[in-house]
Amino acid sequence: MAAILIPDNVISCNGVSINCYMLTGHNPNKISLPSVRKGDCIGVTIHNTNRVNISANTTQAEQYTRATVNRNMGTVRVHFYVDDKCAWQNLPLNCQSWHAGQSGKADKNGSEKGNESTISIECIMGGSGDEKDIKARDNAARLAAHLLDSYGGELYTHNYWCNVRNGRTGTVDELNMLDDEYKNCPVFIRPKWAEFKGLVESYRKSQTGQARYFVQVGAFADRENAENYLAEVKKDYPGAFIKAFE
Ligand SMILES: [Zn+2]
Repeated sequence: MAAILIPDNVISCNGVSINCYMLTGHNPNKISLPSVRKGDCIGVTIHNTNRVNISANTTQAEQYTRATVNRNMGTVRVHFYVDDKCAWQNLPLNCQSWHAGQSGKADKNGSEKGNESTISIECIMGGSGDEKDIKARDNAARLAAHLLDSYGGELYTHNYWCNVRNGRTGTVDELNMLDDEYKNCPVFIRPKWAEFKGLVESYRKSQTGQARYFVQVGAFADRENAENYLAEVKKDYPGAFIKAFE
């Protein structure tokens, strides 16, 4: 039996245990890895992938992480795999990830933008809607809520990026829901996308009555100066924003 991976540390976010195992620090097979994000993080992209056979001493998310380390995931590199038990984080959040692609159709304005500018979550489900599916989806929603609270932005489906690549226009949710001849992802979550979004919202801090504390790092009379400084601050703190008092 293959030895399961040991995470560097385990943190808890919104009730989900996140096993931190960064490929940037664990790469014995020298797989290619995404580079550090250059622009803004604009949100979180949700995917579904199927359950695989696993041994009793591990979880689906660990198995997928190990498959990635062992060169069995092609060019897919995501920030998080999430199952009914926990999440495994594979990449630092200031890195891009490879998840929004459309085979043979990479494009600066579509799937590459998804790769460059969003945090990726692969939610591992079987599709029957059983207890494990419900829990995995719930864990993904909790994690997404935490990420949106921390870094801001919107929720995207994989379909969104394929639709952008294919020149479709519309609101974020119109493109999240628009069918695409190549992709239907997240296949188990997208049919009830509005319900999933509601679940994510229910786990946002603003909904749970938890206080939020902000730290100010500058004050400017000119909006332009504030924008310039924000660009600097965002390099280290992607969730930074401007609040105007007039
Ligand atoms: Zn996908």
